[in-house]
Amino acid sequence: MTIYLDYAATTPVDPRVAEAMSEILRSDRYQANAASTTHAPGLLAKEGVEMARLPIASLIGADRREIIFTSGATEANNLAILGVAAAASRASAAQRKAESALHFISSRTEHKSVLDALRELERRGASVTWLEPDEWGRIPPDAVRGALRDDTTLVSVMHANNELGCVNDIAGISAVCRERGVLLHTDASQSVGKIACDVATLGADLLSFSAHKIYGPKGIGALYVRESARPRIAPIMFGGGHERGLRSGTLATHQIAGFARAATLVREQGAVDAAASRQLQRRLRQGLESLPGAILNTPPGDESLPGLVNVSFEGVEGESLVTGLIDIAVSTGSACSSATREPSYVLRALGRDTELAQSSLRISFGRYTTPAHIDTALVAIRREVSRLRVLAGGDAIEGASEDFPPFDGPLSWASELGVLARPHFRAAPRLPKFPRGTLPTGICRGQAGRRADGADVTFELEIASGIVKSARFSAYGCPHTLAISAWLCDVLEGARVDAGVPGTPADWASKFEVPTEKLGRLLIVEDALRAALGPARQV
Ligand code: PMP
Repeated sequence: MTIYLDYAATTPVDPRVAEAMSEILRSDRYQANAASTTHAPGLLAKEGVEMARLPIASLIGADRREIIFTSGATEANNLAILGVAAAASRASAAQRKAESALHFISSRTEHKSVLDALRELERRGASVTWLEPDEWGRIPPDAVRGALRDDTTLVSVMHANNELGCVNDIAGISAVCRERGVLLHTDASQSVGKIACDVATLGADLLSFSAHKIYGPKGIGALYVRESARPRIAPIMFGGGHERGLRSGTLATHQIAGFARAATLVREQGAVDAAASRQLQRRLRQGLESLPGAILNTPPGDESLPGLVNVSFEGVEGESLVTGLIDIAVSTGSACSSATREPSYVLRALGRDTELAQSSLRISFGRYTTPAHIDTALVAIRREVSRLRVLAGGDAIEGASEDFPPFDGPLSWASELGVLARPHFRAAPRLPKFPRGTLPTGICRGQAGRRADGADVTFELEIASGIVKSARFSAYGCPHTLAISAWLCDVLEGARVDAGVPGTPADWASKFEVPTEKLGRLLIVEDALRAALGPARQV
């Protein structure tokens, strides 16, 4: 079984939550629409929803009426940002401002749902001041103070960062905003239930959170709207006027029941969970710190979320690392495995160079994680980091296991790497034998690419009588770069030098199911091979 260490993406559903949801779905009591208040079943459903609102509100110290149910934190963030912009531009004629005249303050390390909602407002003409984080990813209250303007409509700064686990001083930021009468929104998706998160103490006017980060179901979340802020936010979706006119749509009673049960459980055992996670975090940190070239991106001590560690490894490409770690489920801080395949924008905002920003792992854990899970993860990480460093021409890590889980075993379906590429990705290294500049006759080398560009490949060919006797390579790069380099060495051995490069990057891409956005990396592989084959023709 894979060990699940991606709690920051979503937590497993607590069986007690599943039980509560199933009860609601099966019960005759709650089958009606909670908005159908013209009959008894409708009133019962409404009562169920209102009862469920209580533990959810108490979890953040809010009043029941201040909770607006949404489909999750993405929607809550959109409602907060676009809703405040809509209200400001629809205000009475005397105060009305076009959206293009609005000013917002936020940071580059926010979740995409905040970044993209603000970018949409920028597109409509509004201006946004993007604050720079400190070395650990935090936004100091003074940075907000310095950016506030007379026309600032909203400040949106997250409570805890989902990639790094750093925590912002929201109470400090809200004090600054209050002095100037500016609304504050905070995305608390990662912090609710894990660290103190009380709206009175934090002082935020709007706060987003989500059930599936606290062992509840996916697809339900909430926006807390402070009573005094209600006139300053307008709906962004229109319909029956549910949720105090802010979010139309029939309420998902079973989802809400699951959210409420999850909230109750977190109130009962959140402190115990957090203390256990803190212990696991220390264990994990210690283990990672013993790996050479490991750089921790999560703030030290107890300043972070308890259940998250973000780490970069020098000389290791992040996507190859997560691909090799088939026995543990972690995410790469870099977006390599997502559609954009760009280095982590969060780490870039912290000033990390591209290489470190594309080599990070986010390991996150919680209620069901044991010390044994963390120890297994550490063994797997040591093993893969060592292997990839060696493949990239670096040093092995002392004590690294050589016990690689088979890539064609029961777990390998989980890899994005195509079936044909897998054995080559995992092939035993056959590294260049001769240092650059000391090549004996019959040995040809070619190199191309830079680590900052995502791939750095070297081929070494041994040539006799126009035939490639043996082929070796070293490479830093994504799994396809490594797999295709290894496969090319197989194909080249015994081939005639004058036959040239076997096929084209486009051929390799179709054979090994390489996503088109990675073609640039295969061009680097081709360049390295051409550079080796060029002099080989003269041998
Ligand atoms: N904000 C943060 C900080 C998150 O971590 C997430 C979940 N990845 C979201 C917003 C989006 O939450 P949801 O999945 O509930 O839409």
